[in-house]
Amino acid sequence: MITADRLVKDYGKVRALDELTLDIPPGIVFGLLGPNGAGKSTTIKILTTLSAPTSGSAVVAGHDVMKNPDKVRTAIGCVTQKPGIDPAATGRENLRLQAALYGMRTSDRNTRITHLLGRFGLDAAADRPARTYSGGMQRKLDIAMGLIHRPTVLFLDEPTTGLDPEARAETWAEIGRLTDEGMTILLTTHYLEEADRLAARLAIVDRGRVVALGTPDSLKSELQGDAIHVDLADPAAATEAVPILKTHGREVTVSGRTVRARVHDGAAAVPAVLAALDAAGVTVASVAVSRPSLDDVYLRHTGRSFADASGEVAA
Ligand code: ADP
Repeated sequence: MITADRLVKDYGKVRALDELTLDIPPGIVFGLLGPNGAGKSTTIKILTTLSAPTSGSAVVAGHDVMKNPDKVRTAIGCVTQKPGIDPAATGRENLRLQAALYGMRTSDRNTRITHLLGRFGLDAAADRPARTYSGGMQRKLDIAMGLIHRPTVLFLDEPTTGLDPEARAETWAEIGRLTDEGMTILLTTHYLEEADRLAARLAIVDRGRVVALGTPDSLKSELQGDAIHVDLADPAAATEAVPILKTHGREVTVSGRTVRARVHDGAAAVPAVLAALDAAGVTVASVAVSRPSLDDVYLRHTGRSFADASGEVAA
């Protein structure tokens, strides 16, 4: 339903996409996961015909994004980070305007608007200005606007950024219902939990490349054993802690005061690791054992933790 073949996008000297390749089957939520600056928005801009790649090609809903951008635009809906809602207009007026932009006939337009208002639970609020809506309602209106012309592919760019937990849960439920109805959804997110929960398949993107691809479970099951995270009272003690963790586990990494390692059996390794650290005079603030998470998958493929990678760009 969506294929991207070795997409490259250069902004001056910055290579935002570096031969990014994707192949997304119909009827699923496909997650594009990566820290800020990874290239997710750039990918979406190219696939939705808003930006041309420096090289490479892409086909969406059977149409080449470069050769047939109009056909692509008719087949897709987009919900971007900048909502397209006019806050002074009512929900119904926003939908009407969107329908007019797509050149829908008036009779079809009204039936479709009534359907979408009902479908998203917005009937009661339909004739109130959108600025009076809660964050969750505005996001629903935004998604309804993206669906007005009955697209078969929906692009959701960071759909829950800035939403409170309740609105986020509502949006997640909505996305689940849309795939039940057969929609193909490309979702970008920098929330690991969101990708884990919603995506049937996902690509982890880092510095413009796909570094891991699969179902959340298959990606996690590539990692054997448990992760242990040791928080040191003094970050300088990492020099002593690292060799100790290396004798008990593998893939040892340090981030600030936290030393992480993978071990065969977390529950068995922790007492031995703590005893060895204590014997070496290293004070431990806390220790945690966890089953493999997408953060561990990211760490394995990029050599740094997801939180650190997001921080790098933000800093
Ligand atoms: P993400 O959506 O994953 O946060 P983006 O696709 O926005 O990442 O950005 C990828 C890289 O391209 C970043 O290094 C970003 O600074 C750069 N970039 C994105 N858009 C532009 C632009 N219009 N001009 C210059 N650099 C850009």
